[in-house]
Amino acid sequence: MSFRIGMLSRKAMAKEAEKEYDVVIVGSGPAGLTAAIYSARYMLDTVVIAGEIGGQMGETGYVENYPGFIRITGQELVKRFTDHVAHYKVPIQMDEVETIERDGEKFRVRTKRGITYKTKTVILAVGVKRRRLNVPGEQEYTGKGVSYCAPCDAPFFRGKVVAVVGGGDSAASAAILLADYASRVYLIHRRNELRAQPIYRKLLEENPKIEILWSRVVERLEGDTFLRKAVLKNRETGELEELELDGLFVEIGADPPREFLERIGVELDEQGYVKVGPDQSTSIPGIFAAGDCTTGSNKYKQIVTAAAEGAVAADAAYNYIIRKFPR
Ligand code: NAP
Repeated sequence: MSFRIGMLSRKAMAKEAEKEYDVVIVGSGPAGLTAAIYSARYMLDTVVIAGEIGGQMGETGYVENYPGFIRITGQELVKRFTDHVAHYKVPIQMDEVETIERDGEKFRVRTKRGITYKTKTVILAVGVKRRRLNVPGEQEYTGKGVSYCAPCDAPFFRGKVVAVVGGGDSAASAAILLADYASRVYLIHRRNELRAQPIYRKLLEENPKIEILWSRVVERLEGDTFLRKAVLKNRETGELEELELDGLFVEIGADPPREFLERIGVELDEQGYVKVGPDQSTSIPGIFAAGDCTTGSNKYKQIVTAAAEGAVAADAAYNYIIRKFPR
């Protein structure tokens, strides 16, 4: 079998329907890709199904806390992960999982493209979905100045004025990356204290191109064919202020894909994260979960913790398979 990232032909789809996998991994962020590497090393027949490659990792500016890399872009780190998966020849199918049904002791994973994968175990590594501001103008100017991915779109804003909304690690990391391109970067945060790791405050304050606008929320976005300004509300004075800008990056966190996870039927916590045990097992035997979509790692959402959960999930899937399906 040769390594592939892609979509199956009709002929290959028919073949797939007859085949049985040991592990189907849903999602290709750091959790899913690490699970693929570990599953392959356990010689488990593995496939990754994902709508996109890299997840949030690919949308992160500079990553400065993944061990072994003092500073690397999220997209370069995605490439390192996928090259590693390619080394073990685990296929990555670009598709979307719609349902996972029990079939005796095993599962049938059905996708949007109409393929059914039979498998002994599943690892859910579906990550989280980015929040929207939900203000007037946001939808209208998405792709016309409003962006949700700093590393993807930063080069379009060379020499321009941009703003980032949010006060967490994602917003801080996006602002620092954007300062490499833009002439001015405003960080708009709704409180007067950052949620981001303390080192980010220092890095933001040291960067002459970055200015933090504290206690502000975006009321609406305005422009013509392109975004031209954001109307902000100062939460301390109640005053409205106009901020002229060319781009606005929304980095206000993310939520697990609750509707999808409820359809699968695994037990969730009150915020919609998949409840997992120390071995990343879910409430459904044979289904494991890893990464940002879970309650694991004390809910500390980092690339390193997602990768670790992926490794643990693959190990747990291996032990489940040898116990449940002795050869
Ligand atoms: P987050 O930590 O949940 O922070 C979201 C930020 O957006 C908060 O500052 C929040 O304000 C603000 N916010 C939320 N809803 C808002 C709204 N409607 N309007 C205005 N502001 C709003 O999300 P994140 O920064 O995406 O980080 C998620 C996880 O990924 C974290 O665990 C983080 O550590 C991790 N991460 C790590 C790195 C890294 O280590 N390099 C990089 C990126 C992400 P409040 O503070 O007032 O709640």
